[in-house]
Amino acid sequence: MTTPTIELKPSASPLADAERAAILTSPGFGRHFTDHMVTIKWTEGRGWHDGQLVPYAAISLDPASMVLHYAQEIFEGLKAYRQPDGSVATFRPDKNAKRFQASARRLGMPELPVETFIEACDALVKQDAAWVPAHGGEESLYLRPFMIATEVGLGVKPANDYLFLVIASPAGAYFPGGVQPVSIWVSEDHVRAVPGGMGDAKTGGNYAASLLAQAEAAAKGCAQVCYLDAVERKWVEELGGMNLYFVYGNKIITPTLTGSILEGVTRDSLLAVARDLGYEAEEGRISVDQWQRDSENGTLTEVFACGTAAVITPVGTVKRTGAEWTQSGGEPGEVTLRLRQALLDIQRGTAEDKHGWMHPL
Ligand code: PMP
Repeated sequence: MTTPTIELKPSASPLADAERAAILTSPGFGRHFTDHMVTIKWTEGRGWHDGQLVPYAAISLDPASMVLHYAQEIFEGLKAYRQPDGSVATFRPDKNAKRFQASARRLGMPELPVETFIEACDALVKQDAAWVPAHGGEESLYLRPFMIATEVGLGVKPANDYLFLVIASPAGAYFPGGVQPVSIWVSEDHVRAVPGGMGDAKTGGNYAASLLAQAEAAAKGCAQVCYLDAVERKWVEELGGMNLYFVYGNKIITPTLTGSILEGVTRDSLLAVARDLGYEAEEGRISVDQWQRDSENGTLTEVFACGTAAVITPVGTVKRTGAEWTQSGGEPGEVTLRLRQALLDIQRGTAEDKHGWMHPL
């Protein structure tokens, strides 16, 4: 089966420069979309076909499209950053492409070739390059590749037709007023993923499953939920949209990938960046009891969450049923801020890219 190249059919009426500039002064997150999108179809027996870059527009779906009933859907999230010389580069798109393939396998969907995933992202970023915020701040252009089952029918089975799309949305600085610690509710009632389930796939259902726990966290005055393992309700897994790191002096530890944790690109990058900076970095198991105890006795010096959206977010107050504690006096820790800066510098092209992570356009 051949892989399509993407036919360019750009908009005759992109948003006026002044209107785009007004959006870029305060983009928020996921509120505004660029002028174009990429679409590629997949049909059983024919493979990937009809790759196109077209004006951003609504798509029409038959009400019996399988994705609307059985949630055969996967997605990705990655960013394009303006470089000091004015050019644009994405961060590790190959990692997202491979995770997209892994998600596709888990949901019985066709695997988009890595090079086609990257070609689609590149085509959109090149066309809408004016939407990539200026160099200097923490703004970026967020890319959202996704795939849905479009076959019409109500039988429960892997679909025979799919649509892959990439859309893009300018993203403002996550912490416009300076890095602020996030508060965490440790959910002992709800789990995000189970052994043998879909926790390591990036599929919409995992996020739908997180909304009730998220509402519970908000009711407890917390911004994010930390999920524990589904079997013992003891081992720390991750947040609804970020991985976690625990800092013990010079050593950073992140929960081992068990199948129910999403393998974050930021998580993986930080293992390497931390080692580059002379820290010990490893994967391991941390129980919620150990978290509370070591935080209270001071051996656990910092905790942070990480993901594409915020890069690194310090963890401040933690609440669980019957207990509450504050990490690092509620201030962002030194290791947290150092790692955050080191990764941002690579992404924004102001530090050497020794791992070859940046993908210039
Ligand atoms: N865990 C979950 C559940 C997520 O949705 C995300 C965001 N993709 C992450 C972790 C962090 O992954 P990444 O560093 O690739 O953004």
